[in-house]
Amino acid sequence: MGSPIAHSKSPAIHAAFAEQTGQQMAYQAVLVPAGGFREALAALYEQGCKGANVTLPFKHEAWLACSERTDRADRAGAVNTVWFDEQGHILGDNTDGVGFIRDLTHNLGCTLAGRDILVLGAGGAVRGIIDPLFDAGIESVVIANRTVDRAEAIAAAFSDRGSIRASTYADLAGQRFSVIINGTSLSLQNALPPLPEDILEPCGLAYDMMYSNKPTIFMQWAQARGAGRAADGLGMLVEQAAESFYIWRGVRPQTGPVIEKLRAGD
Ligand code: NDP
Repeated sequence: MGSPIAHSKSPAIHAAFAEQTGQQMAYQAVLVPAGGFREALAALYEQGCKGANVTLPFKHEAWLACSERTDRADRAGAVNTVWFDEQGHILGDNTDGVGFIRDLTHNLGCTLAGRDILVLGAGGAVRGIIDPLFDAGIESVVIANRTVDRAEAIAAAFSDRGSIRASTYADLAGQRFSVIINGTSLSLQNALPPLPEDILEPCGLAYDMMYSNKPTIFMQWAQARGAGRAADGLGMLVEQAAESFYIWRGVRPQTGPVIEKLRAGD
């Protein structure tokens, strides 16, 4: 459920999971009009639908619509996975954060424990990864954002988890990080955040949450500055889908073959 949905790879991902695990199911993208989220979800329930993924711009509306949420969804302030109990109550989770961590640690082999991380952006996607980063044992996180107030709000909301601070882009001068996560939507516009030249440690990891069938502009920027690894968010997309699939079906699909299939453009 989202708007727009024409670009969505989720139907192909879930079809691949269903085929791999022998599950009988149908998963379709549903275009939801502005202001029509609750009505659309109720209609899906009436049609016998068992659950749904929710994407932009409805993740917060989905959060509000749930009568029960997991702790991680509560903290993220956003729900991307819903399902119904026997009384028709709406239950919600947020699988984006766990998908992101799984991609970083399992697929890319990055050790997060003890690291000082730089996160760029302070939107919904960034809010969802802070708890999982601390759960993975990071030492500290700096959140840099154009609108610094939004970064400050996230730093305040997660200050109970450990060392977290907000920054402007200008204040990053003179600092270095071995892991930089781009959680802005700038790559969509083929634009870069205004970063100091030597912000990424040699051989560091640069991760762009946006995905594309060619290296994003942020990945290219990092590769030109000696990144050891530069990755986009396709693995995160598939991993969050796998977690949703597990919630609905009780079966955990293998993600590696599906990531490869999507990369190959199948
Ligand atoms: P939001 O719209 O909530 O946040 C966008 C962020 O980008 C804000 O921090 C905003 O800064 C910043 N930004 C936008 N334009 C500019 C600009 N011109 N200059 C500087 N900063 C800018 O988006 P989301 O958090 O939902 O998504 C962020 C990215 O993550 C998107 O690319 C999305 O596709 C990707 N994503 C990927 C997922 C995956 O599974 N791979 C899952 C979810 C998201 P400001 O606050 O100043 O406006």
